Amino acid sequence: MKIAVLKETAPGETRCAATAETVKKFTALGAELAVESGAGESASIADADFEAAGAKIGSRQDVVEGADAILCINGPDPQSIACAKQGALLVGALDPLRRRDAVEAYAAAGLEALSMEWMPRITRAQSMDILSSQSNLAGYKAVVDAAAAYGRAFPMMMTAAGTISAARVFVMGVGVAGLQAIATARRLGAQVSATDVRSATKEQIQSLGAKPIFVEQVAGIEGEGSGGYATEMSEEYQKAQAELVSGHIAKQDIVITTALIPGRPAPRLIGDAQIATMRPGGVIVDLAADAGGNVEGCVAGESVVKHGVTIIGASNLARSLAADSSALFARNLFNFLSAFWDKDQNRPVLPDDDEIVKGVRLTQGGRIVSERLSGEAK
Ligand code: NAD
Repeated sequence: MKIAVLKETAPGETRCAATAETVKKFTALGAELAVESGAGESASIADADFEAAGAKIGSRQDVVEGADAILCINGPDPQSIACAKQGALLVGALDPLRRRDAVEAYAAAGLEALSMEWMPRITRAQSMDILSSQSNLAGYKAVVDAAAAYGRAFPMMMTAAGTISAARVFVMGVGVAGLQAIATARRLGAQVSATDVRSATKEQIQSLGAKPIFVEQVAGIEGEGSGGYATEMSEEYQKAQAELVSGHIAKQDIVITTALIPGRPAPRLIGDAQIATMRPGGVIVDLAADAGGNVEGCVAGESVVKHGVTIIGASNLARSLAADSSALFARNLFNFLSAFWDKDQNRPVLPDDDEIVKGVRLTQGGRIVSERLSGEAK
């Protein structure tokens, strides 16, 4: 079993799909690793580190030729891996809905493309979930970035020159990123409140020492919903939520928004009029910026100032923590492939009827096999 690790080419990408640790682990399973030269550079992993862990270093052609599996963060240009052998696994965040043409090209090339974003949200797959591992880091970094842009301190400080009051932080959307944002803001000494549409998050917010702010008059989502994800809310709920937010946001110094609805644009949670009620110097970090944004006027990848409030359109924040985000992403890939490793055949064997395999497999045998992609199911 030869496993290739690609050097990422997407603009702004810093992560690497393997680390010295996962190279060692795959080698211990019996695989041979081939890492494209410079693949780990921006994540502080030198070619020499990969070599010391047991990998061979080479050009893209060297590593891809004869590989049984190709690991990547973002799906590569199909042309750039044209020398891959039939049936090779291509594993990474392949972004199938937005890169349909590339997925078709992977199918035509006979590759078995496995898209890790579509990992089902079941207990067995938790250690393989790239969305969770990267969102967790993004939630932390959002608060650190907000603190850096905020012209005041987070904790309450009693000094000889007088008292500084604690920053008030409001987290909207309490999934993986939101929970980490709450925990990070609390560690920095802020007074934290948070909201979500899923009632199950209320207890989680309280257990982190933050105050839940919830729409009470219209029911939110009870229970876990579909795979723990939210859906679009009724107009009545949206109206009640807007009123609640308007009343609360004027008292906040920092707002972190993380609300996402899979397959839909991000819900609009904060309008311009609400931003205008915040104190000048306030900071909003919109983690949903890449999905259209939760905040009116937010620009993905940019920082804009409206009514004296800085709105940071956070784009793929995990990239700014390249060493940690690579370490977790690489472990997600290892946990996935090793869970299916067949010792006798010395390779992963992916059963057709396995829930995980059905979720992530996009192409096989020259065609698209994903039900979700072919529109037969959501
Ligand atoms: P997400 O990134 O899709 O969304 C972020 C949050 O935004 C969610 O909590 C969602 O409810 C919230 N949201 C959506 N619309 C909103 C609105 N209008 N107003 C306020 N909030 C809104 O979610 P996520 O972070 O990926 O996680 C969602 C859930 O899935 C969590 O409960 C998490 O623990 C669970 N999960 C389970 C597994 C597993 O079991 N393998 C893995 C990952 C996550």
